[in-house]
Amino acid sequence: MKYNIPRGTFDILPKDSYKWQFVMDSFRKVASRFGYEEITTPIFEVAELFERSSGESSDVVQKEMYRFSDRKERTFALRPEGTAPVVRSYVENHLDVLSSRTKLFYIGPMFRYDRPQAGRYRQFYQYGIEFIGSDNPYYDAEVIAIEMLWLKELGLKNLRLELNSVGCATCAADYEAALREFFRPNLDKLCPDCAKRFDIKPRRLLDCKVPSCKPFRSGAPAQLDYLDAHCKEHFAKVCDTLTAMDIAYTINPSIVRGLDYYTNTAFEVIYDGLGAQNSLAGGGRYNGLIEQIGGKSIPAIGFAGGFERLLIALEQEGIQLGTRPVPDAYLICLGDKARAGIMPYLNALRQKDVYVDYDPDKSSLKALFKAADTSGARFALIVGDSELEAKQVNLKNLQTGEQVSLPLDGGEAVVQVLKS
Ligand code: AMP
Repeated sequence: MKYNIPRGTFDILPKDSYKWQFVMDSFRKVASRFGYEEITTPIFEVAELFERSSGESSDVVQKEMYRFSDRKERTFALRPEGTAPVVRSYVENHLDVLSSRTKLFYIGPMFRYDRPQAGRYRQFYQYGIEFIGSDNPYYDAEVIAIEMLWLKELGLKNLRLELNSVGCATCAADYEAALREFFRPNLDKLCPDCAKRFDIKPRRLLDCKVPSCKPFRSGAPAQLDYLDAHCKEHFAKVCDTLTAMDIAYTINPSIVRGLDYYTNTAFEVIYDGLGAQNSLAGGGRYNGLIEQIGGKSIPAIGFAGGFERLLIALEQEGIQLGTRPVPDAYLICLGDKARAGIMPYLNALRQKDVYVDYDPDKSSLKALFKAADTSGARFALIVGDSELEAKQVNLKNLQTGEQVSLPLDGGEAVVQVLKS
């Protein structure tokens, strides 16, 4: 029997895993610089958490969620996104009592039953930021700055930040009424999904992917023209703060975001080289979410980005993402006595943080030197029975061919050479 990986998933093989490590570590570092701390939640939650937060009408809940029942017939879901679990944890662990501001970030796999294609998978890895505790527009700009500064630091160029405001519940009501008026005459020409969305969430009609729906939205009213005074001022301050931070943006009135819980600021980071899946990251303010899932009314803002698309973009621009580790030294051990007696030394080196490769199955000198070369090690450590007896080891620089004899000590002599 031969088994294949499930469709829409992928293995991260050793030849690539150091790149993943590199970008994940680099995200952790940047987030910490802004005072954000890592939170890790389970990969499954009760399905209702997502139904309540994302909205019953959202694509994520309607079509994309991996639901399953456990042995007690409780319905769980593999998390399709990271915000609802983080907020669930925030409420459950009373993090609001500890501080009026909570700065969190997460990294981990998400699951969506989506149609797989380049840059779109059924299991994918997201990084995300959540700021909870203030409506101050500074924080909208701060979370955007984390993403933009990080991508700039990684060296990515062809980026665009697109910004919109989806208003609050009050201004959204006026806007949605205007949208219904706009779409009503063509309702019978829209796709069945749009017909459903028309009543529940008409702004979803603006980002329907069905080609035949697209022409009907040109000239649709923009949310920005329907903001109340507070939302208008909030948005203006976010824009001003970004400008003061020297972060360029364009306003895109059609950003609606897929999930129901967004209020005010909504943004997307676009990388054009990615084809159809050109969104690297997206997020926005979700002032209503915490209350919606059982907490107090506390404002918050966050975003999530995908590592897969980021890695594709970085590779397209030829950006080097760390290096695959190579051994510091390759141990060439000749003779049965040497092979048995060298174990304490091998251990000592590894305990001193020296990466030593050793293959006890190879015994011919030629094969061992070939293996040392292939491994990419800078040095070969050569020990035969007579060296072992004399408590000596030969260290050969594989690039220059230079060789020195060192004492077979607790590893100190080799460490000294490696560091010099
Ligand atoms: P979203 O949670 O839908 O706002 O997505 C945020 C980011 O996650 C996107 O900009 C993508 O980079 C990434 N993303 C979302 N869905 C997928 C997917 N199915 N496969 C790979 N990356 C995804």
